Amino acid sequence: MELESQTVKCQICSQEINKLFTAPCDYRKPTSHRAYDVFFCTSCRYGQVWPRPTRKEVSSFYDLTDYYTHKADTNSKVGRNSDESFLDRLRFHLSWRLDNGKDLSPNDAVALLKGSSFSMLEIGCGNGGNMSRFLDQGFSVVGVEPDQKAREEAKKSNLIVYEGTAEELPRTVMESKYDVILMSHVLEHCIDINSAVLNAKGLLRDRGCFIVETPNCESLGFKAQRAAWPFSDIPRHLNFFTPFSLCAILSKHGFSVVSVKYCGFCRQFSNSWLDTEKEVWRAFQGSDDQWQTEPKYKLQAWKLLISSLFSSKEAKYDSVRVIAQLF
Ligand SMILES: [Zn+2]
Repeated sequence: MELESQTVKCQICSQEINKLFTAPCDYRKPTSHRAYDVFFCTSCRYGQVWPRPTRKEVSSFYDLTDYYTHKADTNSKVGRNSDESFLDRLRFHLSWRLDNGKDLSPNDAVALLKGSSFSMLEIGCGNGGNMSRFLDQGFSVVGVEPDQKAREEAKKSNLIVYEGTAEELPRTVMESKYDVILMSHVLEHCIDINSAVLNAKGLLRDRGCFIVETPNCESLGFKAQRAAWPFSDIPRHLNFFTPFSLCAILSKHGFSVVSVKYCGFCRQFSNSWLDTEKEVWRAFQGSDDQWQTEPKYKLQAWKLLISSLFSSKEAKYDSVRVIAQLF
Protein backbone atom coordinates (compact mmCIF):
# COMPACT_ATOMS: atom_id res chain seq x y z
CA MET A 1 0.00 0.00 0.00
CA GLU A 2 1.10 3.57 -0.79
CA LEU A 3 -0.09 4.66 2.64
CA GLU A 4 3.07 3.38 4.38
CA SER A 5 5.36 5.80 2.54
CA GLN A 6 2.98 8.76 2.72
CA THR A 7 4.09 11.68 4.87
CA VAL A 8 1.57 13.45 7.07
CA LYS A 9 1.63 17.25 7.06
CA CYS A 10 0.40 19.72 9.65
CA GLN A 11 -2.72 21.58 8.44
CA ILE A 12 -1.40 24.79 9.97
CA CYS A 13 2.33 24.98 9.04
CA SER A 14 2.55 22.18 6.40
CA GLN A 15 5.59 20.62 8.11
CA GLU A 16 5.88 16.83 8.27
CA ILE A 17 4.53 15.49 11.56
CA ASN A 18 4.57 12.23 13.56
CA LYS A 19 2.04 10.02 15.28
CA LEU A 20 1.37 10.87 18.94
CA PHE A 21 -1.30 8.32 19.92
CA THR A 22 -4.06 6.01 18.68
CA ALA A 23 -7.71 5.68 19.68
CA PRO A 24 -8.37 1.93 19.31
CA CYS A 25 -12.03 2.53 18.35
CA ASP A 26 -14.93 4.98 18.50
CA TYR A 27 -15.98 4.54 22.14
CA ARG A 28 -19.60 5.32 21.23
CA LYS A 29 -19.51 2.42 18.73
CA PRO A 30 -17.30 -0.18 20.46
CA THR A 31 -18.36 -2.97 18.10
CA SER A 32 -16.70 -1.11 15.18
CA HIS A 33 -13.04 -1.99 15.54
CA ARG A 34 -11.65 0.81 13.39
CA ALA A 35 -8.70 2.58 15.06
CA TYR A 36 -7.83 6.27 14.57
CA ASP A 37 -4.27 7.66 14.63
CA VAL A 38 -3.60 11.18 15.85
CA PHE A 39 -0.53 12.98 14.45
CA PHE A 40 0.87 16.00 16.30
CA CYS A 41 2.81 19.07 15.19
CA THR A 42 5.24 20.01 17.98
CA SER A 43 5.85 23.46 16.39
CA CYS A 44 2.16 24.45 16.22
CA ARG A 45 1.05 22.27 19.14
CA TYR A 46 -1.81 20.96 17.00
CA GLY A 47 -3.00 17.39 16.52
CA GLN A 48 -5.02 15.82 13.70
CA VAL A 49 -6.66 12.48 13.01
CA TRP A 50 -4.96 10.88 9.99
CA PRO A 51 -5.98 9.69 7.45
CA ARG A 52 -8.76 12.28 7.18
CA PRO A 53 -12.19 10.65 6.86
CA THR A 54 -14.48 11.43 3.92
CA ARG A 55 -17.57 13.62 4.38
CA LYS A 56 -19.74 10.52 4.17
CA GLU A 57 -17.73 8.82 6.93
CA VAL A 58 -17.96 11.94 9.06
CA SER A 59 -21.78 11.99 8.90
CA SER A 60 -21.81 8.32 9.93
CA PHE A 61 -19.83 9.28 13.08
CA TYR A 62 -22.89 11.25 14.28
CA ASP A 63 -25.31 8.43 13.62
CA LEU A 64 -25.83 7.89 17.35
CA THR A 65 -28.94 7.31 19.39
CA ASP A 66 -27.96 9.94 21.97
CA TYR A 67 -25.80 12.98 21.13
CA TYR A 68 -25.88 16.11 23.28
CA THR A 69 -27.07 18.47 20.54
CA HIS A 70 -30.10 16.27 19.89
CA LYS A 71 -31.95 17.69 22.86
CA ALA A 72 -32.39 21.04 24.57
CA ASP A 73 -29.68 22.25 26.98
CA THR A 74 -29.69 20.54 30.34
CA ASN A 75 -27.38 20.67 33.31
CA SER A 76 -26.04 17.24 32.40
CA LYS A 77 -22.44 18.53 32.26
CA VAL A 78 -22.40 18.87 36.01
CA GLY A 79 -25.31 16.52 36.66
CA ARG A 80 -25.86 15.11 40.09
CA ASN A 81 -26.32 11.37 40.45
CA SER A 82 -28.31 9.98 43.32
CA ASP A 83 -25.49 7.57 44.22
CA GLU A 84 -22.97 10.34 45.04
CA SER A 85 -20.94 9.68 48.17
CA PHE A 86 -19.79 12.36 50.60
CA LEU A 87 -16.32 12.32 48.97
CA ASP A 88 -17.86 12.72 45.50
CA ARG A 89 -19.75 15.77 46.68
CA LEU A 90 -16.65 17.15 48.41
CA ARG A 91 -14.52 16.66 45.27
CA PHE A 92 -17.08 18.43 43.10
CA HIS A 93 -17.64 21.21 45.63
CA LEU A 94 -13.91 21.94 45.95
CA SER A 95 -13.51 21.99 42.14
CA TRP A 96 -16.52 24.30 41.85
CA ARG A 97 -14.93 26.69 44.39
CA LEU A 98 -11.73 26.68 42.31
CA ASP A 99 -13.52 27.23 39.00
CA ASN A 100 -12.90 30.78 37.77
CA GLY A 101 -13.50 29.94 34.11
CA LYS A 102 -14.94 32.62 31.86
CA ASP A 103 -18.00 31.33 30.01
CA LEU A 104 -18.95 32.74 26.63
CA SER A 105 -20.75 36.06 26.96
CA PRO A 106 -22.22 38.25 24.17
CA ASN A 107 -20.82 41.24 26.14
CA ASP A 108 -17.26 40.18 25.28
CA ALA A 109 -18.11 40.88 21.64
CA VAL A 110 -20.25 43.98 22.31
CA ALA A 111 -17.28 45.62 24.09
CA LEU A 112 -15.24 45.35 20.88
CA LEU A 113 -17.91 46.41 18.37
CA LYS A 114 -18.91 49.88 17.24
CA GLY A 115 -22.57 50.81 16.71
CA SER A 116 -25.79 49.76 18.38
CA SER A 117 -27.36 46.89 16.45
CA PHE A 118 -25.39 43.78 15.70
CA SER A 119 -25.73 40.56 13.73
CA MET A 120 -24.35 37.19 14.71
CA LEU A 121 -23.78 34.01 12.71
CA GLU A 122 -23.17 30.83 14.61
CA ILE A 123 -21.52 28.10 12.55
CA GLY A 124 -22.30 24.73 14.09
CA CYS A 125 -25.04 26.10 16.33
CA GLY A 126 -26.23 22.71 17.60
CA ASN A 127 -29.54 23.08 19.43
CA GLY A 128 -29.26 26.90 19.47
CA GLY A 129 -28.35 27.54 23.13
CA ASN A 130 -25.69 30.17 22.29
CA MET A 131 -27.91 31.82 19.64
CA SER A 132 -30.65 32.38 22.22
CA ARG A 133 -28.13 34.09 24.52
CA PHE A 134 -27.08 36.53 21.76
CA LEU A 135 -30.73 37.05 20.76
CA ASP A 136 -31.53 38.05 24.36
CA GLN A 137 -28.76 40.68 24.13
CA GLY A 138 -30.42 42.25 21.08
CA PHE A 139 -28.40 40.59 18.31
CA SER A 140 -30.06 39.40 15.11
CA VAL A 141 -28.99 35.77 14.91
CA VAL A 142 -28.74 33.08 12.28
CA GLY A 143 -27.27 29.59 12.56
CA VAL A 144 -25.78 26.84 10.43
CA GLU A 145 -25.85 23.23 11.56
CA PRO A 146 -25.25 19.97 9.66
CA ASP A 147 -27.20 17.76 12.05
CA GLN A 148 -30.91 17.50 11.33
CA LYS A 149 -31.98 16.52 14.86
CA ALA A 150 -30.08 19.49 16.33
CA ARG A 151 -31.64 21.85 13.73
CA GLU A 152 -35.12 20.61 14.66
CA GLU A 153 -34.33 21.28 18.33
CA ALA A 154 -33.17 24.85 17.53
CA LYS A 155 -36.28 25.52 15.43
CA LYS A 156 -38.45 24.71 18.46
CA SER A 157 -37.02 27.94 19.97
CA ASN A 158 -38.01 29.84 16.77
CA LEU A 159 -34.38 30.25 15.70
CA ILE A 160 -33.40 30.52 12.01
CA VAL A 161 -31.03 27.67 11.25
CA TYR A 162 -29.82 26.46 7.85
CA GLU A 163 -28.26 23.17 6.88
CA GLY A 164 -24.52 23.36 6.16
CA THR A 165 -21.03 22.99 7.57
CA ALA A 166 -18.16 25.39 8.25
CA GLU A 167 -16.49 24.22 5.07
CA GLU A 168 -19.69 24.38 2.97
CA LEU A 169 -21.89 27.24 4.10
CA PRO A 170 -25.39 27.62 2.66
CA ARG A 171 -25.83 30.31 0.00
CA THR A 172 -28.46 32.25 2.00
CA VAL A 173 -25.99 32.76 4.83
CA MET A 174 -23.25 33.86 2.42
CA GLU A 175 -25.37 36.72 1.09
CA SER A 176 -24.79 38.78 4.26
CA LYS A 177 -21.90 39.92 6.43
CA TYR A 178 -21.86 39.61 10.21
CA ASP A 179 -20.54 41.56 13.20
CA VAL A 180 -19.88 38.37 15.14
CA ILE A 181 -19.15 34.86 13.91
CA LEU A 182 -19.13 32.18 16.56
CA MET A 183 -17.76 28.65 16.32
CA SER A 184 -18.09 27.01 19.72
CA HIS A 185 -16.77 23.45 19.92
CA VAL A 186 -16.95 23.19 16.12
CA LEU A 187 -13.47 23.67 14.63
CA GLU A 188 -12.26 20.41 16.22
CA HIS A 189 -14.97 18.61 14.16
CA CYS A 190 -13.95 20.09 10.77
CA ILE A 191 -12.26 18.04 8.05
CA ASP A 192 -10.57 21.15 6.61
CA ILE A 193 -9.78 23.73 9.30
CA ASN A 194 -8.24 26.19 6.81
CA SER A 195 -11.35 26.48 4.63
CA ALA A 196 -13.51 26.67 7.79
CA VAL A 197 -11.54 29.71 9.03
CA LEU A 198 -11.35 31.30 5.56
CA ASN A 199 -15.12 30.97 5.07
CA ALA A 200 -15.73 32.74 8.38
CA LYS A 201 -13.21 35.44 7.45
CA GLY A 202 -15.07 36.10 4.18
CA LEU A 203 -18.35 36.75 6.03
CA LEU A 204 -17.04 38.94 8.84
CA ARG A 205 -17.57 42.72 8.72
CA ASP A 206 -14.51 44.99 9.16
CA ARG A 207 -13.59 45.08 12.85
CA GLY A 208 -16.05 42.24 13.47
CA CYS A 209 -15.32 39.52 16.05
CA PHE A 210 -14.56 35.91 15.32
CA ILE A 211 -15.04 33.82 18.47
CA VAL A 212 -13.67 30.29 18.44
CA GLU A 213 -13.81 27.87 21.37
CA THR A 214 -12.42 24.32 21.36
CA PRO A 215 -11.34 21.68 23.88
CA ASN A 216 -7.94 22.56 25.35
CA CYS A 217 -5.30 19.92 24.63
CA GLU A 218 -2.79 21.76 26.78
CA SER A 219 -4.93 20.76 29.78
CA LEU A 220 -3.66 18.30 32.39
CA GLY A 221 -6.72 16.12 31.72
CA PHE A 222 -5.91 15.73 28.02
CA LYS A 223 -2.20 15.20 28.64
CA ALA A 224 -2.88 12.41 31.12
CA GLN A 225 -5.52 10.60 29.08
CA ARG A 226 -5.18 11.63 25.42
CA ALA A 227 -7.52 9.28 23.42
CA ALA A 228 -9.43 8.35 26.60
CA TRP A 229 -10.11 11.95 27.69
CA PRO A 230 -13.90 12.51 27.48
CA PHE A 231 -13.46 15.69 25.39
CA SER A 232 -11.24 13.90 22.83
CA ASP A 233 -14.35 12.15 21.43
CA ILE A 234 -12.53 10.61 18.46
CA PRO A 235 -13.54 10.39 15.56
CA ARG A 236 -16.14 13.18 15.91
CA HIS A 237 -13.16 15.34 16.89
CA LEU A 238 -10.62 15.35 14.07
CA ASN A 239 -8.47 18.25 15.36
CA PHE A 240 -6.77 18.80 18.71
CA PHE A 241 -6.10 22.44 19.53
CA THR A 242 -4.09 24.13 22.23
CA PRO A 243 -4.22 27.88 22.99
CA PHE A 244 -1.09 28.24 20.85
CA SER A 245 -2.43 26.37 17.81
CA LEU A 246 -5.84 28.05 17.97
CA CYS A 247 -4.10 31.44 17.83
CA ALA A 248 -1.76 30.11 15.10
CA ILE A 249 -4.55 29.05 12.71
CA LEU A 250 -6.29 32.42 13.14
CA SER A 251 -3.08 34.44 12.70
CA LYS A 252 -2.21 32.38 9.63
CA HIS A 253 -5.36 33.72 7.95
CA GLY A 254 -4.83 37.35 8.90
CA PHE A 255 -6.75 37.64 12.18
CA SER A 256 -5.40 39.58 15.15
CA VAL A 257 -5.98 37.76 18.42
CA VAL A 258 -7.66 40.10 20.92
CA SER A 259 -8.09 37.76 23.88
CA VAL A 260 -7.58 34.17 25.02
CA LYS A 261 -9.90 32.91 27.75
CA TYR A 262 -10.37 29.60 29.51
CA CYS A 263 -13.45 27.75 30.74
CA GLY A 264 -14.57 24.32 31.91
CA PHE A 265 -13.00 23.11 35.12
CA CYS A 266 -15.41 21.69 37.71
CA ARG A 267 -17.29 19.47 35.23
CA GLN A 268 -14.14 17.31 35.01
CA PHE A 269 -14.78 16.33 38.64
CA SER A 270 -18.46 15.40 38.39
CA ASN A 271 -19.55 11.78 38.59
CA SER A 272 -21.02 12.00 35.09
CA TRP A 273 -17.56 12.97 33.71
CA LEU A 274 -16.00 10.02 35.55
CA ASP A 275 -18.74 7.76 34.16
CA THR A 276 -17.75 8.86 30.64
CA GLU A 277 -14.08 8.13 31.43
CA LYS A 278 -15.15 4.64 32.45
CA GLU A 279 -17.28 4.19 29.31
CA VAL A 280 -14.41 5.25 27.03
CA TRP A 281 -11.87 3.09 28.82
CA ARG A 282 -14.11 0.02 28.74
CA ALA A 283 -14.65 0.42 24.98
CA PHE A 284 -10.85 0.57 24.53
CA GLN A 285 -10.16 -2.23 27.04
CA GLY A 286 -8.12 -5.16 25.78
CA SER A 287 -7.29 -3.57 22.40
CA ASP A 288 -3.59 -3.54 23.37
CA ASP A 289 -1.29 -3.53 26.43
CA GLN A 290 -1.94 0.15 27.08
CA TRP A 291 -5.60 -0.59 27.89
CA GLN A 292 -5.21 -3.54 30.29
CA THR A 293 -5.38 -2.16 33.83
CA GLU A 294 -8.51 -0.11 34.50
CA PRO A 295 -7.68 3.25 36.14
CA LYS A 296 -8.96 4.20 39.59
CA TYR A 297 -11.15 7.02 38.30
CA LYS A 298 -11.87 8.72 41.61
CA LEU A 299 -8.24 8.65 42.76
CA GLN A 300 -7.22 10.01 39.34
CA ALA A 301 -9.74 12.86 39.76
CA TRP A 302 -8.36 13.79 43.22
CA LYS A 303 -4.82 13.81 41.80
CA LEU A 304 -5.97 16.06 38.95
CA LEU A 305 -7.67 18.39 41.42
CA ILE A 306 -4.52 18.69 43.53
CA SER A 307 -2.24 19.22 40.48
CA SER A 308 -4.66 21.90 39.24
CA LEU A 309 -4.03 23.93 42.40
CA PHE A 310 -0.48 24.56 41.24
CA SER A 311 -1.02 24.88 37.50
CA SER A 312 -1.52 27.70 35.01
CA LYS A 313 -4.94 28.45 33.43
CA GLU A 314 -3.66 26.85 30.24
CA ALA A 315 -3.17 23.55 32.09
CA LYS A 316 -6.24 23.80 34.33
CA TYR A 317 -9.25 24.39 32.06
CA ASP A 318 -10.72 21.88 29.59
CA SER A 319 -11.60 24.51 26.97
CA VAL A 320 -9.99 27.55 25.39
CA ARG A 321 -11.70 30.47 23.63
CA VAL A 322 -10.03 32.98 21.36
CA ILE A 323 -11.59 36.25 20.22
CA ALA A 324 -9.96 37.56 17.05
CA GLN A 325 -10.64 40.53 14.79
CA LEU A 326 -9.80 41.66 11.27
CA PHE A 327 -8.26 45.13 11.14
ZN1 LIG B 1 2.38 22.78 12.41
